[in-house]
Amino acid sequence: MNITATHINYFHVCIRKLWLFSNGIQMEHNSQAVSEGKLIGDSTYLDRPEKYTELLIDNVKIDYYDAKNKVVHEVKKSNKVEQAHEAQVKYYLYVLLCNGVEGATGIIEYPTLRHTTLVILTSEDIIEIQTWEKEILNIIKQTTIPPTINKPVCKKCSYYEFCYV
Ligand code: SF4
Repeated sequence: MNITATHINYFHVCIRKLWLFSNGIQMEHNSQAVSEGKLIGDSTYLDRPEKYTELLIDNVKIDYYDAKNKVVHEVKKSNKVEQAHEAQVKYYLYVLLCNGVEGATGIIEYPTLRHTTLVILTSEDIIEIQTWEKEILNIIKQTTIPPTINKPVCKKCSYYEFCYV
């Protein structure tokens, strides 16, 4: 199976979420956070389609890629799971590298917080990402659902009702 940036993100948020998503239980369309995030993407950067390219590479979709400067732009609503956002963008940079684009960087933008985070890909990251990929495949193959994590992030998760109600 193809690992996408969503798998990488969920792996860093919650492996139960990763498992549910990967095994066909998808509730993302019900998530208010996702729709709000989409609105941020749609309304904050209306001129983006002219400046940046949407890239589909190895089944990984990068919404905003500045090809001239080799910069991936990722827009997020909240930085509560910033580590997962960074992992996701590092994965974009890794996929770009695997396809011959060297030296790309990433910028995570939090418009509502007026905050940006620069992301670079190091040689250590590359080794780590290959480990993530193996771990993700192992988690997905498990025959039982990983346990709930009972963390604040659960309240914003689209699987909240599935997990707790
Ligand atoms: S609600 Fe919590 S435990 Fe359930 S999938 Fe989401 S993050 Fe994981």
